[in-house]
Amino acid sequence: MSAPSIHWFRLDLRLADNPALRAAIERGGPVVPVFTWATEEEGDWPPGGASKWWLHQSLAKLDAQLRAAGSRLVIRRGPTLESLRALAKETGAAAVFWNRRHEPAVIARDAKVKEALGSDGFAAESFNAALLHEPWTIQNQSNKPFQVFTPFWRHCLAKPDPAEPLPAPKNILSPSKWPKSLALGELELESKLNWSDGLRAAWHPGEVGATANLSRFLAKAFDDYTDHRNRPDVTGTSRLSPHLHFGEISPCQVWHGLRRLASKRGLPVEQWRGSQFLAELGWREFAHHLLFHFPHTPAEPLRADFKKFPWRKDAAWLRAWQVGRTGYPIVDAGMRELWATGWMHNRVRMIAASFLVKDLLLPWQEGARWFWDTLVDADLANNTLGWQWTAGCGADAAPYFRVFNPTSQGEKFDPQGDYVRKWCPELAKLPAEWIHQPDKAPTEILRVAGVKPGHNYPQPIVNHAIAREVALAAFARLKGGAK
Ligand SMILES: Cc1cc2nc3c(=O)[nH]c(=O)nc-3n(C[C@H](O)[C@H](O)[C@H](O)COP(=O)(O)OP(=O)(O)OC[C@H]3O[C@@H](n4cnc5c(N)ncnc54)[C@H](O)[C@@H]3O)c2cc1C
Repeated sequence: MSAPSIHWFRLDLRLADNPALRAAIERGGPVVPVFTWATEEEGDWPPGGASKWWLHQSLAKLDAQLRAAGSRLVIRRGPTLESLRALAKETGAAAVFWNRRHEPAVIARDAKVKEALGSDGFAAESFNAALLHEPWTIQNQSNKPFQVFTPFWRHCLAKPDPAEPLPAPKNILSPSKWPKSLALGELELESKLNWSDGLRAAWHPGEVGATANLSRFLAKAFDDYTDHRNRPDVTGTSRLSPHLHFGEISPCQVWHGLRRLASKRGLPVEQWRGSQFLAELGWREFAHHLLFHFPHTPAEPLRADFKKFPWRKDAAWLRAWQVGRTGYPIVDAGMRELWATGWMHNRVRMIAASFLVKDLLLPWQEGARWFWDTLVDADLANNTLGWQWTAGCGADAAPYFRVFNPTSQGEKFDPQGDYVRKWCPELAKLPAEWIHQPDKAPTEILRVAGVKPGHNYPQPIVNHAIAREVALAAFARLKGGAK
Protein backbone atom coordinates (compact mmCIF):
# COMPACT_ATOMS: atom_id res chain seq x y z
CA MET A 1 0.00 0.00 0.00
CA SER A 2 1.19 3.56 -0.69
CA ALA A 3 2.56 5.62 2.18
CA PRO A 4 0.03 7.96 3.84
CA SER A 5 -0.64 11.45 2.51
CA ILE A 6 -1.37 14.50 4.62
CA HIS A 7 -4.25 16.77 3.64
CA TRP A 8 -3.59 20.12 5.24
CA PHE A 9 -6.96 21.87 5.81
CA ARG A 10 -6.94 25.67 5.76
CA LEU A 11 -9.72 27.84 4.32
CA ASP A 12 -11.21 24.83 2.54
CA LEU A 13 -13.26 23.37 5.38
CA ARG A 14 -15.36 21.03 3.24
CA LEU A 15 -15.21 17.52 1.79
CA ALA A 16 -16.98 18.18 -1.53
CA ASP A 17 -15.20 19.96 -4.38
CA ASN A 18 -11.92 19.76 -2.52
CA PRO A 19 -9.21 19.04 -5.13
CA ALA A 20 -6.32 18.68 -2.67
CA LEU A 21 -8.25 16.20 -0.55
CA ARG A 22 -9.19 14.34 -3.73
CA ALA A 23 -5.49 14.21 -4.76
CA ALA A 24 -4.52 12.84 -1.35
CA ILE A 25 -7.19 10.12 -1.62
CA GLU A 26 -6.30 9.26 -5.22
CA ARG A 27 -2.67 8.76 -4.27
CA GLY A 28 -3.89 5.50 -2.88
CA GLY A 29 -2.67 5.27 0.72
CA PRO A 30 -4.23 6.39 4.00
CA VAL A 31 -5.00 10.10 4.43
CA VAL A 32 -4.18 12.14 7.52
CA PRO A 33 -6.33 15.30 7.59
CA VAL A 34 -4.73 18.04 9.69
CA PHE A 35 -5.48 21.60 10.71
CA THR A 36 -2.58 23.64 12.07
CA TRP A 37 -3.17 26.79 14.09
CA ALA A 38 -0.41 29.30 13.35
CA THR A 39 -1.81 32.82 13.52
CA GLU A 40 1.58 34.42 14.00
CA GLU A 41 2.31 33.41 10.41
CA GLU A 42 -0.64 35.38 9.05
CA GLY A 43 1.14 38.74 9.16
CA ASP A 44 -0.79 41.63 10.66
CA TRP A 45 -4.14 39.99 10.11
CA PRO A 46 -4.63 36.97 12.36
CA PRO A 47 -8.34 36.04 12.54
CA GLY A 48 -10.54 38.37 14.63
CA GLY A 49 -12.92 37.38 17.41
CA ALA A 50 -15.98 36.57 15.27
CA SER A 51 -13.88 34.62 12.75
CA LYS A 52 -12.35 32.55 15.52
CA TRP A 53 -15.82 31.69 16.82
CA TRP A 54 -16.81 30.56 13.32
CA LEU A 55 -13.61 28.59 12.86
CA HIS A 56 -14.23 26.64 16.06
CA GLN A 57 -17.73 25.63 14.91
CA SER A 58 -16.57 24.84 11.41
CA LEU A 59 -13.68 22.62 12.56
CA ALA A 60 -16.05 20.71 14.85
CA LYS A 61 -18.43 20.13 11.93
CA LEU A 62 -15.57 19.10 9.65
CA ASP A 63 -14.33 16.56 12.19
CA ALA A 64 -17.84 15.09 12.42
CA GLN A 65 -18.05 14.80 8.63
CA LEU A 66 -14.62 13.21 8.44
CA ARG A 67 -15.63 10.70 11.11
CA ALA A 68 -18.74 9.81 9.10
CA ALA A 69 -16.34 8.99 6.25
CA GLY A 70 -14.17 6.83 8.53
CA SER A 71 -11.53 9.48 9.17
CA ARG A 72 -10.97 12.33 11.65
CA LEU A 73 -9.34 15.75 11.97
CA VAL A 74 -5.93 16.00 13.61
CA ILE A 75 -5.37 19.39 15.22
CA ARG A 76 -1.89 20.80 15.75
CA ARG A 77 -0.31 24.14 16.56
CA GLY A 78 2.23 25.86 14.32
CA PRO A 79 4.84 26.84 13.35
CA THR A 80 3.38 25.19 10.29
CA LEU A 81 6.48 23.74 8.72
CA GLU A 82 7.67 22.08 11.94
CA SER A 83 4.19 20.83 12.64
CA LEU A 84 3.79 19.26 9.17
CA ARG A 85 7.28 17.75 9.32
CA ALA A 86 6.58 16.21 12.72
CA LEU A 87 3.26 14.81 11.54
CA ALA A 88 4.85 13.34 8.42
CA LYS A 89 7.51 11.67 10.55
CA GLU A 90 4.98 10.24 13.00
CA THR A 91 2.72 8.84 10.28
CA GLY A 92 5.32 7.92 7.67
CA ALA A 93 3.57 10.22 5.19
CA ALA A 94 5.27 10.82 1.87
CA ALA A 95 3.12 13.63 0.50
CA VAL A 96 1.39 16.81 1.66
CA PHE A 97 -1.50 18.37 -0.25
CA TRP A 98 -3.32 21.65 0.30
CA ASN A 99 -5.55 24.20 -1.39
CA ARG A 100 -4.10 27.63 -2.03
CA ARG A 101 -4.91 30.84 -0.17
CA HIS A 102 -4.25 34.24 -1.67
CA GLU A 103 -3.37 36.58 1.21
CA PRO A 104 0.16 38.03 0.79
CA ALA A 105 1.61 36.78 4.12
CA VAL A 106 0.08 33.34 3.63
CA ILE A 107 1.43 33.09 0.07
CA ALA A 108 4.93 33.87 1.38
CA ARG A 109 4.62 31.30 4.19
CA ASP A 110 3.24 28.62 1.86
CA ALA A 111 6.05 29.12 -0.64
CA LYS A 112 8.60 28.46 2.11
CA VAL A 113 6.68 25.40 3.33
CA LYS A 114 6.49 23.97 -0.18
CA GLU A 115 10.14 24.49 -0.85
CA ALA A 116 11.26 23.04 2.49
CA LEU A 117 8.99 19.98 2.22
CA GLY A 118 10.19 19.44 -1.35
CA SER A 119 13.83 19.54 -0.30
CA ASP A 120 13.02 17.10 2.54
CA GLY A 121 11.90 14.70 -0.20
CA PHE A 122 8.12 14.96 0.27
CA ALA A 123 5.71 15.42 -2.59
CA ALA A 124 4.15 18.81 -1.81
CA GLU A 125 1.37 19.98 -4.08
CA SER A 126 -1.19 22.78 -3.92
CA PHE A 127 -4.48 23.33 -5.77
CA ASN A 128 -7.02 26.03 -6.51
CA ALA A 129 -10.24 25.58 -4.57
CA ALA A 130 -11.07 29.14 -3.54
CA LEU A 131 -11.53 31.10 -6.76
CA LEU A 132 -13.05 30.70 -10.20
CA HIS A 133 -9.87 32.19 -11.68
CA GLU A 134 -6.64 32.65 -9.79
CA PRO A 135 -5.21 36.20 -9.92
CA TRP A 136 -2.19 35.37 -12.05
CA THR A 137 -4.38 33.82 -14.77
CA ILE A 138 -6.18 37.09 -15.57
CA GLN A 139 -4.62 40.15 -17.13
CA ASN A 140 -5.78 43.01 -19.32
CA GLN A 141 -4.68 43.69 -22.89
CA SER A 142 -1.50 45.40 -21.67
CA ASN A 143 -0.62 42.30 -19.61
CA LYS A 144 -1.34 44.22 -16.42
CA PRO A 145 -3.77 43.53 -13.59
CA PHE A 146 -7.28 44.88 -14.05
CA GLN A 147 -8.23 47.84 -11.88
CA VAL A 148 -11.78 48.31 -13.14
CA PHE A 149 -14.46 45.75 -12.34
CA THR A 150 -16.57 45.67 -15.52
CA PRO A 151 -13.79 44.71 -17.98
CA PHE A 152 -12.36 42.34 -15.36
CA TRP A 153 -15.63 40.44 -15.04
CA ARG A 154 -16.28 40.52 -18.79
CA HIS A 155 -12.85 38.94 -19.26
CA CYS A 156 -13.65 36.25 -16.67
CA LEU A 157 -17.01 35.48 -18.27
CA ALA A 158 -15.33 35.02 -21.65
CA LYS A 159 -13.33 32.12 -20.20
CA PRO A 160 -14.72 28.56 -20.24
CA ASP A 161 -17.01 27.64 -17.34
CA PRO A 162 -15.27 26.24 -14.26
CA ALA A 163 -15.16 22.44 -14.09
CA GLU A 164 -18.05 20.56 -12.47
CA PRO A 165 -17.53 20.37 -8.68
CA LEU A 166 -16.03 17.16 -7.30
CA PRO A 167 -18.32 14.97 -5.19
CA ALA A 168 -17.52 14.45 -1.48
CA PRO A 169 -15.58 11.25 -0.79
CA LYS A 170 -17.69 8.57 0.94
CA ASN A 171 -14.76 6.79 2.60
CA ILE A 172 -11.34 8.07 3.51
CA LEU A 173 -8.72 5.48 4.34
CA SER A 174 -7.35 5.85 7.90
CA PRO A 175 -3.72 5.40 8.94
CA SER A 176 -3.05 2.21 10.95
CA LYS A 177 -2.55 4.36 14.05
CA TRP A 178 -3.91 7.86 14.51
CA PRO A 179 -1.31 10.46 15.51
CA LYS A 180 -1.91 12.61 18.57
CA SER A 181 -4.24 15.59 18.21
CA LEU A 182 -5.01 18.60 20.34
CA ALA A 183 -8.62 18.87 21.48
CA LEU A 184 -10.36 21.65 19.56
CA GLY A 185 -11.01 23.53 22.82
CA GLU A 186 -7.25 23.79 23.42
CA LEU A 187 -7.03 26.31 20.57
CA GLU A 188 -9.23 28.64 22.66
CA LEU A 189 -11.00 30.02 19.62
CA GLU A 190 -14.30 30.67 21.38
CA SER A 191 -14.56 34.04 23.10
CA LYS A 192 -14.94 34.12 26.84
CA LEU A 193 -17.31 37.07 26.41
CA ASN A 194 -20.97 36.23 26.27
CA TRP A 195 -20.91 37.30 22.66
CA SER A 196 -21.54 34.15 20.77
CA ASP A 197 -25.26 33.66 21.57
CA GLY A 198 -26.25 36.03 18.77
CA LEU A 199 -23.79 34.43 16.38
CA ARG A 200 -25.09 30.98 17.26
CA ALA A 201 -28.69 32.06 16.68
CA ALA A 202 -27.89 33.59 13.29
CA TRP A 203 -25.66 30.97 11.68
CA HIS A 204 -25.03 27.30 10.96
CA PRO A 205 -21.30 27.13 10.22
CA GLY A 206 -20.04 24.13 8.29
CA GLU A 207 -20.48 22.51 4.90
CA VAL A 208 -24.03 21.32 5.56
CA GLY A 209 -25.11 24.83 6.62
CA ALA A 210 -23.40 26.30 3.55
CA THR A 211 -25.14 23.94 1.14
CA ALA A 212 -28.50 24.56 2.83
CA ASN A 213 -27.99 28.32 2.51
CA LEU A 214 -27.24 28.04 -1.20
CA SER A 215 -30.31 25.84 -1.76
CA ARG A 216 -32.52 28.25 0.19
CA PHE A 217 -31.21 31.19 -1.76
CA LEU A 218 -31.63 29.56 -5.16
CA ALA A 219 -35.14 28.32 -4.36
CA LYS A 220 -36.48 31.40 -2.61
CA ALA A 221 -34.44 34.52 -3.24
CA PHE A 222 -32.52 34.31 -6.51
CA ASP A 223 -35.47 35.44 -8.66
CA ASP A 224 -35.87 38.68 -6.69
CA TYR A 225 -32.17 39.24 -6.05
CA THR A 226 -31.81 42.25 -8.34
CA ASP A 227 -34.76 44.00 -6.67
CA HIS A 228 -34.09 42.91 -3.09
CA ARG A 229 -30.32 42.85 -2.79
CA ASN A 230 -30.19 46.44 -1.53
CA ARG A 231 -32.95 45.98 1.05
CA PRO A 232 -31.67 45.23 4.55
CA ASP A 233 -35.27 44.75 5.75
CA VAL A 234 -35.73 41.57 3.66
CA THR A 235 -33.60 38.41 3.40
CA GLY A 236 -32.79 39.12 -0.21
CA THR A 237 -29.16 37.98 -0.42
CA SER A 238 -27.51 34.60 -0.09
CA ARG A 239 -25.70 35.10 3.25
CA LEU A 240 -23.01 32.84 1.83
CA SER A 241 -20.09 35.16 2.64
CA PRO A 242 -18.74 33.42 5.79
CA HIS A 243 -19.26 30.01 4.17
CA LEU A 244 -17.31 31.15 1.11
CA HIS A 245 -14.59 32.71 3.25
CA PHE A 246 -14.01 29.53 5.25
CA GLY A 247 -14.27 27.40 2.13
CA GLU A 248 -17.29 25.47 3.38
CA ILE A 249 -18.61 25.92 -0.14
CA SER A 250 -16.65 26.79 -3.28
CA PRO A 251 -17.48 29.53 -5.80
CA CYS A 252 -17.49 26.74 -8.36
CA GLN A 253 -20.30 24.96 -6.46
CA VAL A 254 -22.25 28.23 -6.36
CA TRP A 255 -21.68 28.78 -10.09
CA HIS A 256 -22.86 25.28 -11.01
CA GLY A 257 -25.76 25.42 -8.52
CA LEU A 258 -27.00 28.45 -10.40
CA ARG A 259 -26.35 26.85 -13.78
CA ARG A 260 -28.38 23.79 -12.80
CA LEU A 261 -31.26 25.92 -11.56
CA ALA A 262 -31.21 27.88 -14.81
CA SER A 263 -31.23 24.77 -16.97
CA LYS A 264 -34.13 23.29 -14.94
CA ARG A 265 -36.07 26.46 -15.56
CA GLY A 266 -35.00 26.78 -19.19
CA LEU A 267 -33.34 30.18 -18.58
CA PRO A 268 -31.11 31.34 -21.43
CA VAL A 269 -27.40 31.04 -20.64
CA GLU A 270 -26.76 34.77 -20.96
CA GLN A 271 -29.45 35.42 -18.36
CA TRP A 272 -27.84 33.49 -15.51
CA ARG A 273 -24.23 34.13 -16.56
CA GLY A 274 -25.04 37.82 -16.79
CA SER A 275 -26.98 37.87 -13.51
CA GLN A 276 -26.32 40.40 -10.79
CA PHE A 277 -25.81 37.57 -8.30
CA LEU A 278 -23.01 36.00 -10.31
CA ALA A 279 -21.48 39.47 -10.69
CA GLU A 280 -21.26 39.66 -6.89
CA LEU A 281 -19.16 36.49 -6.96
CA GLY A 282 -17.21 38.41 -9.60
CA TRP A 283 -16.55 41.19 -7.06
CA ARG A 284 -15.14 38.54 -4.75
CA GLU A 285 -12.84 37.40 -7.56
CA PHE A 286 -11.89 41.01 -8.30
CA ALA A 287 -11.06 41.63 -4.64
CA HIS A 288 -8.67 38.65 -4.62
CA HIS A 289 -7.17 39.79 -7.92
CA LEU A 290 -6.43 43.22 -6.42
CA LEU A 291 -5.06 41.89 -3.14
CA PHE A 292 -2.69 39.59 -4.99
CA HIS A 293 -1.41 42.27 -7.36
CA PHE A 294 -1.39 45.10 -4.80
CA PRO A 295 -0.42 43.33 -1.57
CA HIS A 296 0.14 46.55 0.40
CA THR A 297 -3.53 47.58 0.17
CA PRO A 298 -4.89 46.13 3.44
CA ALA A 299 -2.91 48.89 5.19
CA GLU A 300 -2.35 51.56 2.56
CA PRO A 301 -4.53 53.21 -0.08
CA LEU A 302 -4.14 51.89 -3.62
CA ARG A 303 -4.19 55.49 -4.85
CA ALA A 304 -1.02 56.90 -3.37
CA ASP A 305 -2.33 60.51 -3.30
CA PHE A 306 -4.68 59.44 -0.49
CA LYS A 307 -1.73 58.84 1.83
CA LYS A 308 -1.80 62.59 2.53
CA PHE A 309 -5.50 62.70 3.33
CA PRO A 310 -6.06 64.68 6.56
CA TRP A 311 -7.89 62.01 8.58
CA ARG A 312 -9.02 62.94 12.07
CA LYS A 313 -8.31 61.20 15.34
CA ASP A 314 -11.32 61.07 17.63
CA ALA A 315 -11.66 58.10 19.97
CA ALA A 316 -15.14 59.14 21.17
CA TRP A 317 -16.56 59.32 17.64
CA LEU A 318 -14.94 56.02 16.72
CA ARG A 319 -16.49 54.40 19.78
CA ALA A 320 -19.92 55.91 19.04
CA TRP A 321 -19.73 54.41 15.53
CA GLN A 322 -18.55 51.01 16.78
CA VAL A 323 -21.34 50.62 19.31
CA GLY A 324 -24.09 52.06 17.09
CA ARG A 325 -24.71 55.38 18.87
CA THR A 326 -24.15 57.97 16.14
CA GLY A 327 -27.72 59.29 16.13
CA TYR A 328 -28.20 58.14 12.50
CA PRO A 329 -30.58 55.16 12.77
CA ILE A 330 -29.52 53.22 9.66
CA VAL A 331 -25.84 53.46 10.68
CA ASP A 332 -26.62 52.48 14.27
CA ALA A 333 -28.86 49.58 13.20
CA GLY A 334 -26.07 48.25 10.97
CA MET A 335 -23.39 48.51 13.63
CA ARG A 336 -25.62 46.79 16.15
CA GLU A 337 -26.54 44.04 13.67
CA LEU A 338 -22.81 43.53 13.15
CA TRP A 339 -22.11 43.23 16.87
CA ALA A 340 -25.05 40.93 17.48
CA THR A 341 -24.76 38.59 14.49
CA GLY A 342 -21.25 39.05 13.05
CA TRP A 343 -22.70 40.21 9.73
CA MET A 344 -24.10 43.37 8.18
CA HIS A 345 -26.08 43.80 5.00
CA ASN A 346 -23.94 45.06 2.09
CA ARG A 347 -25.94 48.26 1.52
CA VAL A 348 -25.66 49.09 5.21
CA ARG A 349 -21.92 48.27 5.19
CA MET A 350 -21.55 50.92 2.49
CA ILE A 351 -23.63 53.48 4.42
CA ALA A 352 -21.91 52.81 7.76
CA ALA A 353 -18.45 52.82 6.18
CA SER A 354 -19.17 56.02 4.28
CA PHE A 355 -20.35 57.64 7.53
CA LEU A 356 -17.07 56.74 9.24
CA VAL A 357 -14.78 58.00 6.48
CA LYS A 358 -16.77 60.92 5.09
CA ASP A 359 -18.99 62.24 7.89
CA LEU A 360 -16.53 61.59 10.71
CA LEU A 361 -13.35 61.79 8.58
CA LEU A 362 -11.89 58.88 10.53
CA PRO A 363 -9.39 56.67 8.66
CA TRP A 364 -10.84 53.76 6.71
CA GLN A 365 -8.19 51.52 8.28
CA GLU A 366 -9.91 51.98 11.68
CA GLY A 367 -13.18 50.83 10.17
CA ALA A 368 -11.50 47.90 8.43
CA ARG A 369 -9.94 46.82 11.75
CA TRP A 370 -13.29 46.89 13.55
CA PHE A 371 -14.98 44.94 10.77
CA TRP A 372 -12.08 42.49 10.82
CA ASP A 373 -12.68 41.71 14.47
CA THR A 374 -16.47 41.59 14.40
CA LEU A 375 -17.46 40.11 11.00
CA VAL A 376 -17.90 36.36 10.71
CA ASP A 377 -17.07 36.79 7.01
CA ALA A 378 -13.98 38.98 7.65
CA ASP A 379 -11.92 38.44 4.53
CA LEU A 380 -8.73 40.33 3.78
CA ALA A 381 -9.48 40.73 0.08
CA ASN A 382 -13.18 41.65 0.35
CA ASN A 383 -12.78 43.85 3.41
CA THR A 384 -9.91 45.79 1.85
CA LEU A 385 -11.84 46.31 -1.38
CA GLY A 386 -15.01 47.34 0.49
CA TRP A 387 -13.22 49.94 2.60
CA GLN A 388 -11.04 51.36 -0.15
CA TRP A 389 -14.04 51.49 -2.47
CA THR A 390 -16.05 53.45 0.09
CA ALA A 391 -13.20 55.79 0.97
CA GLY A 392 -12.64 56.49 -2.73
CA CYS A 393 -8.98 55.50 -2.59
CA GLY A 394 -9.13 52.03 -4.20
CA ALA A 395 -9.58 50.46 -7.62
CA ASP A 396 -12.87 51.29 -9.35
CA ALA A 397 -13.86 53.12 -6.16
CA ALA A 398 -16.86 55.31 -5.46
CA PRO A 399 -15.72 58.83 -6.29
CA TYR A 400 -14.79 60.72 -3.14
CA PHE A 401 -17.44 63.39 -3.79
CA ARG A 402 -20.17 60.75 -3.64
CA VAL A 403 -21.12 61.08 0.02
CA PHE A 404 -23.96 58.81 1.15
CA ASN A 405 -26.69 60.68 2.98
CA PRO A 406 -27.55 58.29 5.83
CA THR A 407 -31.09 59.64 6.20
CA SER A 408 -32.13 59.40 2.57
CA GLN A 409 -30.32 56.06 2.16
CA GLY A 410 -32.32 54.76 5.13
CA GLU A 411 -35.58 56.07 3.67
CA LYS A 412 -34.84 54.55 0.28
CA PHE A 413 -33.64 51.10 1.30
CA ASP A 414 -35.54 50.58 4.57
CA PRO A 415 -38.72 52.41 3.58
CA GLN A 416 -40.93 51.18 6.41
CA GLY A 417 -38.11 51.37 8.95
CA ASP A 418 -38.40 47.66 9.83
CA TYR A 419 -34.64 47.12 9.80
CA VAL A 420 -34.10 50.07 12.14
CA ARG A 421 -36.97 48.90 14.38
CA LYS A 422 -35.31 45.50 14.73
CA TRP A 423 -31.88 46.75 15.74
CA CYS A 424 -32.77 50.05 17.47
CA PRO A 425 -35.78 48.98 19.52
CA GLU A 426 -35.86 52.33 21.33
CA LEU A 427 -37.10 53.82 18.02
CA ALA A 428 -39.56 51.01 17.25
CA LYS A 429 -42.70 53.02 17.87
CA LEU A 430 -41.79 55.88 15.56
CA PRO A 431 -43.80 56.02 12.33
CA ALA A 432 -41.91 55.31 9.08
CA GLU A 433 -41.94 59.00 8.20
CA TRP A 434 -39.67 59.88 11.14
CA ILE A 435 -37.79 56.72 11.94
CA HIS A 436 -34.74 57.71 9.89
CA GLN A 437 -34.56 61.20 11.40
CA PRO A 438 -35.83 61.06 14.98
CA ASP A 439 -34.06 64.31 15.87
CA LYS A 440 -36.36 66.15 13.43
CA ALA A 441 -39.62 64.49 14.52
CA PRO A 442 -42.31 66.72 16.07
CA THR A 443 -42.37 66.70 19.88
CA GLU A 444 -45.78 65.04 20.07
CA ILE A 445 -44.73 62.18 17.77
CA LEU A 446 -41.63 61.61 19.88
CA ARG A 447 -43.65 61.70 23.09
CA VAL A 448 -46.15 59.11 21.84
CA ALA A 449 -43.28 56.86 20.57
CA GLY A 450 -41.38 57.22 23.86
CA VAL A 451 -38.29 58.56 22.07
CA LYS A 452 -36.18 61.16 23.87
CA PRO A 453 -33.36 62.32 21.56
CA GLY A 454 -30.24 62.89 23.63
CA HIS A 455 -31.58 60.59 26.39
CA ASN A 456 -32.73 57.18 25.21
CA TYR A 457 -31.40 57.67 21.67
CA PRO A 458 -28.40 59.90 20.80
CA GLN A 459 -28.62 63.21 19.00
CA PRO A 460 -26.68 63.02 15.69
CA ILE A 461 -22.98 63.26 16.58
CA VAL A 462 -22.38 65.38 13.46
CA ASN A 463 -24.63 67.39 11.17
CA HIS A 464 -24.52 65.48 7.89
CA ALA A 465 -24.90 68.54 5.64
CA ILE A 466 -21.98 70.32 7.33
CA ALA A 467 -19.86 67.15 7.56
CA ARG A 468 -20.35 66.62 3.84
CA GLU A 469 -19.04 70.10 3.03
CA VAL A 470 -16.03 69.59 5.30
CA ALA A 471 -15.24 66.25 3.62
CA LEU A 472 -15.55 67.73 0.13
CA ALA A 473 -13.28 70.63 1.10
CA ALA A 474 -10.65 68.19 2.46
CA PHE A 475 -10.86 66.25 -0.78
CA ALA A 476 -10.57 69.41 -2.89
CA ARG A 477 -7.39 70.34 -0.95
CA LEU A 478 -5.98 66.87 -1.62
CA LYS A 479 -6.73 67.17 -5.33
CA GLY A 480 -5.32 70.68 -5.46
CA GLY A 481 -2.20 69.51 -3.65
CA ALA A 482 -2.70 72.15 -0.91
CA LYS A 483 -1.09 71.46 2.46
C1 LIG B 1 -16.89 48.34 3.93
C2 LIG B 1 -17.17 46.93 3.42
C3 LIG B 1 -16.50 45.85 3.99
C4 LIG B 1 -16.74 44.55 3.52
N1 LIG B 1 -16.08 43.50 4.11
C5 LIG B 1 -16.28 42.24 3.65
C6 LIG B 1 -15.59 41.13 4.23
O1 LIG B 1 -14.74 41.27 5.12
N2 LIG B 1 -15.90 39.89 3.76
C7 LIG B 1 -16.80 39.68 2.76
O2 LIG B 1 -17.03 38.52 2.36
N3 LIG B 1 -17.43 40.71 2.17
C8 LIG B 1 -17.22 41.98 2.59
N4 LIG B 1 -17.89 43.02 2.00
C9 LIG B 1 -18.72 42.75 0.80
C10 LIG B 1 -20.20 42.44 1.04
O3 LIG B 1 -20.76 43.37 1.93
C11 LIG B 1 -20.45 41.04 1.58
O4 LIG B 1 -19.73 40.09 0.82
C12 LIG B 1 -21.94 40.69 1.50
O5 LIG B 1 -22.69 41.60 2.26
C13 LIG B 1 -22.17 39.29 1.98
O6 LIG B 1 -23.53 38.98 2.02
P1 LIG B 1 -24.11 37.83 1.09
O7 LIG B 1 -23.30 36.60 1.23
O8 LIG B 1 -25.56 37.71 1.43
O9 LIG B 1 -23.90 38.46 -0.34
P2 LIG B 1 -24.59 38.17 -1.76
O10 LIG B 1 -25.17 39.47 -2.21
O11 LIG B 1 -25.49 37.01 -1.71
O12 LIG B 1 -23.34 37.89 -2.71
C14 LIG B 1 -22.82 36.58 -2.92
C15 LIG B 1 -21.35 36.54 -2.57
O13 LIG B 1 -20.62 37.43 -3.40
C16 LIG B 1 -19.54 38.00 -2.67
N5 LIG B 1 -19.72 39.45 -2.61
C17 LIG B 1 -20.88 40.14 -2.60
N6 LIG B 1 -20.65 41.47 -2.59
C18 LIG B 1 -19.31 41.62 -2.59
C19 LIG B 1 -18.44 42.74 -2.60
N7 LIG B 1 -18.92 44.00 -2.61
N8 LIG B 1 -17.11 42.54 -2.59
C20 LIG B 1 -16.61 41.29 -2.60
N9 LIG B 1 -17.38 40.18 -2.61
C21 LIG B 1 -18.71 40.34 -2.60
C22 LIG B 1 -19.59 37.42 -1.26
O14 LIG B 1 -18.70 36.34 -1.19
C23 LIG B 1 -21.03 36.97 -1.16
O15 LIG B 1 -21.22 35.92 -0.25
C24 LIG B 1 -17.67 44.34 2.46
C25 LIG B 1 -18.34 45.44 1.90
C26 LIG B 1 -18.09 46.72 2.37
C27 LIG B 1 -18.83 47.88 1.75
